[in-house]
Amino acid sequence: MSASLVILNANIITLNPKQPKATAVAIHKSRIVAVGSNAEVRKHIAKSTKIVDANHETVVPGLVDCHVHMTEFGFFLQTPDLRNTQSIKEMQQKLREHASKTRGKGWIQGGRWDQEKFAEKRYPTRWDLDAAVSDRPVFLVRVCGHIGVANTQALRLAGITKETVVEGGKIDLDEATGQPCGIIRGNAMRLIWKVVPQPSSEVLEEACVLTCKKAVEAGLTGVHWLVETTDEIRAIKKLDSEGKLPIRVYLGVPLRLMDRLANLGLSTGAVDSMVRMGFVKLFADGSLGSRTAALKEPYSDEPKSTGLLLHSKKKLCQLVLEAHKAGFQVGVHAIGDRGIENVLDAYEEALKRFPMEDHRHRIEHCSVLNPQLIRRMKKLCLIASVQPHFVVSDPWIVDRVGRKRARWVYPFKTLVKKGVVVASGSDCPIEDISPLLGIWAAVAKRSPDESLTVKEALGSYTLNAAYASFDEDKKGTIEVGKLADFTVLSDDLFNIEPDVINKVVVEMTVVNGKVVYAREDSF
Ligand SMILES: [Zn+2]
Repeated sequence: MSASLVILNANIITLNPKQPKATAVAIHKSRIVAVGSNAEVRKHIAKSTKIVDANHETVVPGLVDCHVHMTEFGFFLQTPDLRNTQSIKEMQQKLREHASKTRGKGWIQGGRWDQEKFAEKRYPTRWDLDAAVSDRPVFLVRVCGHIGVANTQALRLAGITKETVVEGGKIDLDEATGQPCGIIRGNAMRLIWKVVPQPSSEVLEEACVLTCKKAVEAGLTGVHWLVETTDEIRAIKKLDSEGKLPIRVYLGVPLRLMDRLANLGLSTGAVDSMVRMGFVKLFADGSLGSRTAALKEPYSDEPKSTGLLLHSKKKLCQLVLEAHKAGFQVGVHAIGDRGIENVLDAYEEALKRFPMEDHRHRIEHCSVLNPQLIRRMKKLCLIASVQPHFVVSDPWIVDRVGRKRARWVYPFKTLVKKGVVVASGSDCPIEDISPLLGIWAAVAKRSPDESLTVKEALGSYTLNAAYASFDEDKKGTIEVGKLADFTVLSDDLFNIEPDVINKVVVEMTVVNGKVVYAREDSF
């Protein structure tokens, strides 16, 4: 069969055990039609074939991010970025600059601040924000996404006072005055979201286009896109129908939107379309950074607290059962061991009452584990949806949970050894979107007893990612008949020092047989 695209002179890592290496690949439309030597693949060249000389660069199966807040990332790209801010003073400066650039535009949001990095070593307050911007509402979330700081205008618009009480959330009060100090935790942040005007469809589409561009530049061919609203789903579908969606999308949809999915024309089954319904998502707890992840024993650096469960166990069981019974794949955010245990109980009960083969339910993050929890995950056939780069970003982990528990935070290797399917992602915009940084972290940045091999780490972004979206027969390896999704890299991950994997550059990204990104000056 004549090919539409042929790549020659490549170092192809197929991840297909029957043919692990190849030098050339031929594609017809969206499918791979030949994998082998240059000579074998040249047979598929016709007049209309586009030929790419890969110049011995490395080709791997398309990398997929299994947990990414794409729309939020798109918005973050247009808001003040406080990730590397070293002090509250610097935060104020950046806020002032952003406010003057976006004069008259209403709410200022964004953030990703981290008080651990601040010279002042404390949380910012409403008064800190007021000193920078007082004439517009401001709400800036912490890097974890589970805590935010609001200025006085934002608090007023949200109707937050010292009397406000929210289940699963907290309004911090100033010790001296007894007034809300601006820090808002967990579910209480919803009071703010409720009064923030929804972005127009143009703004939403712009954010989606921007975020997809960043994703393919990072070498991603697919994303498990966590959405918050039906408007986002509509925007993604619209881009797809206009041929403007460069990347495959598997949706992670909040439970509260479950009933509305039928109207959006989405089903879990349609394998070949670019946008598919994926899993129904809900939360069990918060994050370690903000000490809102639910632990069995108190935080080592805050002995009065064991974190926050967002639902009672009974309620969580009910919610999981609801999604499971409706036939959806379920993904529950759980970080602390108490949160994870509740999720395991909920899955166990749902599966006991309504047994289902091949459900592929997932736990998102599953950070603080122990051997018993891992055994239960395996027994229930759950997928561990992990974000390897957290091990780089969370150097304070031993402070939070102590040495003994820290041993079992992100035990990548034990999960793999015990037979749990590990699928990787970024949790961007909390982390950088680059899958190479994730592979680097899993291979080189976790202690040796829990780090992954390059093959395992790469597998967690390819084969296992495909398994997590029910399409291991269509994706995850480079072999004849599979979808033509791959990533071209500047170096062979298997033949460089693990320490420098973070320096590897994405040369080209191919989705559905089309080049959706090529680095300038390459090819
Ligand atoms: Zn997330």
